[in-house]
Amino acid sequence: MAKQYIDLATLKFLLYQVHQLKEVLQYDRYADHDLESIDLFINAVKDFSDQELFPYFQEMDAQPAHYKDGKIIVHPQVGVMMKKGGEMGFISGAFDFKDGGLQLPLMVFTAASYIQDAANNHLPGYTGLTLGAAELIVHFGNAALNQIYTPKMLAGEWGGTMCLTEPQAGSSLSDITTSATPQADGSYHIKGQKIFISAGDHEYVDNFVHLLLARIDGAAPGTKGISLFVVPKKRLDDAGNLVPNDVITAGDFQKLGQKGYCTTHLMFGEGDDCKAWLVGEANQGLKYMFLMMNGARIGVGRGAAAIAMAAYHASLAYAQERPQGRKLTATGKKNPDQAQTLIINHPDVRRMLLLQKVVAEGSLSLVLLASRYQDLIKSVTDETEKERYTLLLEILTPVVKTYPSEMGATAVSNGLQVLGGYGFCSEYVLQQYHRDIRIFSIYEGTTGIQSQDLLGRKVTMKAGKALGYLVEEIAGTLQACATIHDFQPYANKLQQKLKDVQAVLQFLGGFAKTGNYERYLADATLFMELFANIVVAWRWLDIALTAKKALLTNDKTYTEAFYESKVHAMKFYFKYELAKTAGLVESLMDKEVLTIPNEKKVFI
Ligand SMILES: Cc1cc2nc3c(=O)[nH]c(=O)nc-3n(C[C@H](O)[C@H](O)[C@H](O)COP(=O)(O)OP(=O)(O)OC[C@H]3O[C@@H](n4cnc5c(N)ncnc54)[C@H](O)[C@@H]3O)c2cc1C
Repeated sequence: MAKQYIDLATLKFLLYQVHQLKEVLQYDRYADHDLESIDLFINAVKDFSDQELFPYFQEMDAQPAHYKDGKIIVHPQVGVMMKKGGEMGFISGAFDFKDGGLQLPLMVFTAASYIQDAANNHLPGYTGLTLGAAELIVHFGNAALNQIYTPKMLAGEWGGTMCLTEPQAGSSLSDITTSATPQADGSYHIKGQKIFISAGDHEYVDNFVHLLLARIDGAAPGTKGISLFVVPKKRLDDAGNLVPNDVITAGDFQKLGQKGYCTTHLMFGEGDDCKAWLVGEANQGLKYMFLMMNGARIGVGRGAAAIAMAAYHASLAYAQERPQGRKLTATGKKNPDQAQTLIINHPDVRRMLLLQKVVAEGSLSLVLLASRYQDLIKSVTDETEKERYTLLLEILTPVVKTYPSEMGATAVSNGLQVLGGYGFCSEYVLQQYHRDIRIFSIYEGTTGIQSQDLLGRKVTMKAGKALGYLVEEIAGTLQACATIHDFQPYANKLQQKLKDVQAVLQFLGGFAKTGNYERYLADATLFMELFANIVVAWRWLDIALTAKKALLTNDKTYTEAFYESKVHAMKFYFKYELAKTAGLVESLMDKEVLTIPNEKKVFI
């Protein structure tokens, strides 16, 4: 197994220099933290991940979570994750002091979670979902719910889940049928089943708190009639004891990857005795859930970015040790007298490794940027500024969810290829990363759904204001390139790509204007691919600019080779990745329609 799963120097360079954490720390909200204390925290998370997460990564794949005799059996390290995670602030870190949190900037919390994800992506979901469920209670629940549930959840003593999906309602949550019947004491009785519930049951916490979407009897059909409930696995009786609450675990889905992260099937109210408590107001459930969805989607992007990074390091380590073939020089080619070269010296292998690097690090920058916007939304007092960061976060969120998941999978696949036949073998870890990352483009809204969100809602929201702000942010980086002569061609190229996006939107907009939304959105996923590629090109230009300035000012925080490698990676991204957008533009602006079902003929 590779010894390294992230490059802490790159994480810190991105966090401190490219994304300027210190600017966020200047706000009152974060007055209790400084760069020094944060650096200690990040190092402590790395030490914890080295000792408690990474060593169990392959073992958790080999010993999958499973259902036995009505129980879900998971790896014992889940217990360590919950307990230590509670103690070290992996659940409460970004919560306000008043709610029992550490009030850390999300940029820092994201960086800390990223290290854990890279070390062992089967474990952080257990604490992450507890965090998400507690966040919903803190934001929308009443004082009684907060008092009973939040402290136990933040301490990692009780686990949390998100119960949305039902067999007939996956992408389309408007079709949820789980029912909630009002009771005289103000509680509700829940009846229904939820599937694919991550971290839904195991023996390493004392209780589970399911944040569940259901329909109160008589509620309107569709999304307007969905409410949010707290449904504990065990409820408190009058004497304050935990007693069963009629939540039955019916099974655990056996999966392609993330095998240590259980995916449960839960039945609620089979014995008509499943009590639940409403969170916030009736019929606002989906709205509440979506308010929290930004965080969850960024979390998915973060996880995929982390796996891509871990896979990159595993491939790199292999390529630096594996001799095979000779260099393609006149003397070297097919000359058996010459020693074999290491595969890292073959241009095609370098291309695959560089692809892994630009996807992994570009994705990390994207994730940190979204977290920075989240921090600024919480910190700035000026309303116009707040609106700006809110809209920037809105338009970037589907991209942050999708790019690392989709391109991360491509990067990991290339990483497997770097190992040749060994990449396909269980003994080497690349095949596990390949399987683990595959889920990221599916859960928390598939790529198809994210792409429709981007093109159908985010690009057009507030008459294009979110897009306008994003273009302004990119323009800021382009202007900053003006003083650096050798960056000008790259800035010009990116400028041209923004014009391409404008042309595509104008073309597609014609369909929306005439009410032909099916045609407008038919190629939304291609638009996502185009848009995300350009956004990541911007990230790379920004990263390279920061590195170049450090070189020009003789900044010794990192080595010259480190800074040069960032500039080199940017050039690679522009030559090999950004160039691919031309084909996407061609497809997007092609008038021929081939995927919209047509009443006369069926071609599939
Ligand atoms: C490992 C795992 C963990 C999960 N964890 C949780 C969890 O903790 N909590 C929870 O509630 N759920 C969870 N899920 C459920 C997950 O969010 C859903 O699987 C996902 O939303 C897709 O729903 P579906 O599987 O029903 O697929 P479908 O919705 O049936 O989608 C099938 C295909 O059709 C496409 N499609 C569907 N509708 C449209 C449309 N309108 N336009 C274009 N294309 C469309 C999709 O993009 C997809 O390609 C998990 C799933 C898995 C596999």
